[in-house]
Amino acid sequence: MDFAYSPKVQALRERVTAFMDTHVYSAEAVFEQQVAQGDRWQPTAIMEELKRKARAQGLWNLFLPESERGAGLTNLEYAPLAEIMGRSMLGPEPFNCSAPDTGNMEVLVRYASAAQKQQWLEPLLRGEIRSAFAMTEPDVASSDATNMDARAVRDGDEWVINGRKWWTSGACDPRCKILIFMGLSNPEGPRHQQHSMILVPVDTPGVHIVRPLPVFGYDDAPHGHAEVLFEHVRVPYDNVLLGEGRGFEIAQGRLGPGRIHHCMRSIGMAERALELMCKRALTRNAFGKPLARLGGNIDLIANSRMEIDMARLLTLKAAYMMDTVGNKVAKSEIAQIKVIAPNVALKVIDRAIQIHGGAGVSGDFPLAYMYAMQRTLRLADGPDEVHRAAVGKYELGKYAGQGV
Ligand SMILES: Cc1cc2nc3c(=O)[nH]c(=O)nc-3n(C[C@H](O)[C@H](O)[C@H](O)COP(=O)(O)OP(=O)(O)OC[C@H]3O[C@@H](n4cnc5c(N)ncnc54)[C@H](O)[C@@H]3O)c2cc1C
Repeated sequence: MDFAYSPKVQALRERVTAFMDTHVYSAEAVFEQQVAQGDRWQPTAIMEELKRKARAQGLWNLFLPESERGAGLTNLEYAPLAEIMGRSMLGPEPFNCSAPDTGNMEVLVRYASAAQKQQWLEPLLRGEIRSAFAMTEPDVASSDATNMDARAVRDGDEWVINGRKWWTSGACDPRCKILIFMGLSNPEGPRHQQHSMILVPVDTPGVHIVRPLPVFGYDDAPHGHAEVLFEHVRVPYDNVLLGEGRGFEIAQGRLGPGRIHHCMRSIGMAERALELMCKRALTRNAFGKPLARLGGNIDLIANSRMEIDMARLLTLKAAYMMDTVGNKVAKSEIAQIKVIAPNVALKVIDRAIQIHGGAGVSGDFPLAYMYAMQRTLRLADGPDEVHRAAVGKYELGKYAGQGV
């Protein structure tokens, strides 16, 4: 495996870094101010400005491997760029590379009909609209995708949809125009062929955005994580993706690239936390010494460097395998990094918070918000335990039936 940056990737790394340095970090405070003024659930002028600037520089849709619609990068090539974007909460969106849109766009690229692509994928790729993925339900254990109980019933040329979803990230944003709904359409079918994914425009009568769910008190406005009620929602039968009863198949596909992007961003966030930790430890004194020279603080810094580098190498390995042998064969590596990346980022951010003392949990540094967001990734991407189960099953499978 060769993880050296090609000249193309190195040039893009420099351009994305320059964009972050020039425009993004300084926009963080402006973004917060704009969200705090007036209606929190409106898009901000600063984000639209950042998008225009990044697009004008050709730094746009850098994800999307195996599609002529993206920048033509492989997962391995995209990983270092997503890492740089992930250093800031604002980072991915200016480049049209933010969750959940990247995962949703990949679903549309792979599974949508030509008409569905025209209607929804194209405006998403242009950054004109946003999207959300409505799978998780409050009433069933949603880490098991076969549990989904919201109903999609065929009625002639239409689907009639009823049910309650929550944690539909992004659905509070008025720019979010399309939901990928996953529901029970074929309850009599085999276990993995009972569900369908159906495109539901947000403005369809009967779609109610009930409330934004806070994450440790953060509302993540104007993005938000919505509870959504579907009440006798009617959409054309043709809005089904791939085909009736094939939702689980798509869900499995979606867990690949779109989700490993989170890992890449987590590494970037961990790097930023380490940078903040080092700067604080060198410039603040207690007991006559810089914090860096007190107790075991230098070990915290060293451990953070080692853990980040290990996590990055595993991310690159998973990306490399996705590119070379496909998501199915890379299943264990994808599951491994989904556990490792947010857990490493959380540890590093926690140490950075500690070195910052009270400032670390205040809003004056990005650390508290970073911690809250990384903590959700141990659930939002499927709980750690589900990924561990996949890794463990794969390992045991190597020896099953061999006796002892
Ligand atoms: C910030 C955030 C954003 C999210 N965004 C989205 C989104 O955009 N769209 C969407 O559909 N969902 C989203 N989710 C929901 C997320 O995918 C679910 O919370 C997750 O799949 C777990 O489902 P659950 O909450 O029902 O937990 P449950 O399924 O009830 O699981 C609870 C716990 O049970 C344990 N457990 C489960 N399975 C196993 C196992 N195999 N072995 C051992 N223990 C196990 C784990 O400790 C797990 O945390 C988001 C969640 C958060 C917090």
